[in-house]
Amino acid sequence: MGKSYFYKTNHMKSSAVVNYANEKGAVEIREIEKPSIGDEDVLLEVSHVGVCGSDLHQWTAGHSWPVNYPVVLGHEFGGVIVETGDRVTKWKAGDRVVSETAAVIDPDNPMTRMGKYNLDPTRKGFGYGVNGAMTRFVRVPSRCLHKVPDQIPFEYACLTEPCCVAYSAVIENTHLKPGDRVIVLGPGTIGILCAAMARLCGAQVAVVGLEADKHRLDIAKQYGCEGIIGDATTWANERDGLGADCVIDAAGASMTMKIALQLVRPNGKITKVGWGPQPLGFSLDPLVQKNITLQGSFSHNWPMWERVLALMASGQLNVKPIIGGIWPITEWHTAFEKMHHGEVVKSVLTPV
Ligand SMILES: [Zn+2]
Repeated sequence: MGKSYFYKTNHMKSSAVVNYANEKGAVEIREIEKPSIGDEDVLLEVSHVGVCGSDLHQWTAGHSWPVNYPVVLGHEFGGVIVETGDRVTKWKAGDRVVSETAAVIDPDNPMTRMGKYNLDPTRKGFGYGVNGAMTRFVRVPSRCLHKVPDQIPFEYACLTEPCCVAYSAVIENTHLKPGDRVIVLGPGTIGILCAAMARLCGAQVAVVGLEADKHRLDIAKQYGCEGIIGDATTWANERDGLGADCVIDAAGASMTMKIALQLVRPNGKITKVGWGPQPLGFSLDPLVQKNITLQGSFSHNWPMWERVLALMASGQLNVKPIIGGIWPITEWHTAFEKMHHGEVVKSVLTPV
């Protein structure tokens, strides 16, 4: 049993957004018990939780990862510690924190030992492997926590996680140079945040979407990017006719790899961060012919979280433009629908 402190609210049961089966639409509000914590955990009272594309994929059963049903959704969250386990010394009740997503890792896995615990194949994350944060209380291992600087309100801090996905893809995995011309495919949260990271690297950036993405492309423009509907070939070839230095594929469909191969210049890079379970139906020969570096990007780890929080605290990275609204978790359906249809880039929920 952990050391118990205070609760702003004393509910034993709380409403939670639960994904209960591998079927389309199998998400509902259920009342769940307050979780108990282990010696090295904290109990977090959730302030805000972002809706991720992966939450939508589990809702529509279009995901490609194993899910422990029933599970509380939500892995983009921040809140206040209300209880700490007996062996937790670095954190105390009242601390404002955000949490990484790797809820369960094998400390002896070689990837973990290398500091790349996000790539431990046995890793289980919040919202699919263990209960996530679309509820009032969530159990979090203390090693996942990061302190939130006072100047960052929780409605922004809860989006540290997708910012870290973008940081990992663009900074750690792509190595852009100032002046690079970068095309981002897909104006969802990850696409726009990847574009914002590329701008921080000094790149010239275009975000590409469909006619229906007009609103989301306008938001990309607030980060100093071009917004392009449909074909980006002209923009890709504008400098010397050879194509973009880098294409970041954040579209969430396999077919966009074909477009990436067309737009990238010889010896260029493609970084794929969007998921898409469909098999490819075309030749990868252009990858060979153009001598392209193809890089996947998954998740993030401790130093990236610290760096993203520093960027948010300094004002260099502002997530406000992508937030399309904040809803109580009981209105999860509206929040999910609006994001699903691209009416908003990012929906945020608060517990009730
Ligand atoms: Zn996410």
